[in-house]
Amino acid sequence: MDQVAAGVHQLRIKRFVNVYFVETGTPGEWVLIDTGLPGLDKEIIAAADKLFYPGTHPEAIILTHGHLDHMGSAKELAAHWHVPVIAHPLELPYITAKALYPPSDPTVGGSLAFMSRFFPTQLPDLTDVAEALPLDSEQPPYLVQWRWLHVPGHAPGQIAFFREADRTLIGADAFATTNHESIPAVLLGIPEISVAGAPFNYDWEKCRQSVRTLADLNPAAIGCGHGPVIKGPEAAAGLRKLADNYQLPAQGRYLDEPALTDASGVEHLPPKPADKLPKQAAAIGAGLLLAGAAWLLVGGRRKKRKPSKPGKKYADTTYAKPGRRPGA
Ligand SMILES: [Zn+2]
Ligand SMILES: [Zn+2]
Repeated sequence: MDQVAAGVHQLRIKRFVNVYFVETGTPGEWVLIDTGLPGLDKEIIAAADKLFYPGTHPEAIILTHGHLDHMGSAKELAAHWHVPVIAHPLELPYITAKALYPPSDPTVGGSLAFMSRFFPTQLPDLTDVAEALPLDSEQPPYLVQWRWLHVPGHAPGQIAFFREADRTLIGADAFATTNHESIPAVLLGIPEISVAGAPFNYDWEKCRQSVRTLADLNPAAIGCGHGPVIKGPEAAAGLRKLADNYQLPAQGRYLDEPALTDASGVEHLPPKPADKLPKQAAAIGAGLLLAGAAWLLVGGRRKKRKPSKPGKKYADTTYAKPGRRPGA
C-alpha cells in the first residue's frame, strides 16, 4: 500500500491496476475508488481490514469509469459491504449491461492494442447496486474535501478526483503514471506520466483536452489507474509536459473521427478498420508477449520448468490467460 497524500491510500494490484482507499475526514469513514479486475474482492477486503480495522466497510464504492479493470470486483464488494457503486451517469449503460463501450482499436499501435484483441467486451451487470453520481454537485458523495472532474475521451463518463487543500489528484485513466506501452515499465512500476489505455481511447481530442484540464490543476501528488504514485515537483511538471506535447497516435480508428456516445451508449462509430493481422498470428504474438510478461514477473525466482504440455503453451500465471487482462 502506498500513500498518495494524507488519508489517500493506493493499493497496486498484480502490478497492473490501482484502487484507492480514501478517508472522508470523519473518523472511521472512507470510500473505495475503483475495484480492479474480477476476482480481487478478497484481496481488497483484506487490505481494507488491515488498513482500518477488521470488518470495516466503505460508505460507498465510486468508479472512475466502468472498464473491466476498474469495475471488475465491484459486484462482489458491493454485496459483501452492502454499499452502492456510484458512477457518472454516462458510464451506467456499460456497467448495467445495456450497452457495450466503443470497440477497442487494435490498429492504434503498441503492445496493449495488440493484446486488446483478446479482452472481453461483456462486463458484469451492476444493475442492482449501481447509482448515478449526482451531477448537480461538484463534490463526490462523502468526499467533502474533494471535487470530481469529468475527463472523457478514454471512457465517456470517466471522472477524476481533486483535493484542492493539498492538490492531490486521482487521475483515473485520463493518463497513466507509467508507460503503458512498455511491459517492463508496467511490471516494474517505473514512473512516467504517459498516455493511458490507447486502444480504448474513443475520442483523442477529448483525451487531450482532459489531460489539459488536469494539468491546469498543478497537482502536487498524483495517483492514476495504472502506475505508481508520483509526488513533488515532477507531478505537475510531468503532467504539464504531457499536456503540452500530447502525442496522437500515427494511425487508428478513432483518430480522424471519434466514436459518439450519449446517455444510452454508443450512438455512432467510425468504420471498422481492416485488421490485417491474422487471428492466429495475433494469438501467437500475444502468447509471446504474455509469456514475456510472466517471465519478468517470476523470472529469477523460479526453478527450471519441465517442457509444457501441448495445448498449454503459456506460463501458468493469470497474465497468461486471455480474458483476465481486460481494458486498461
Ligand atoms: Zn480504462
Ligand atoms: Zn484501466
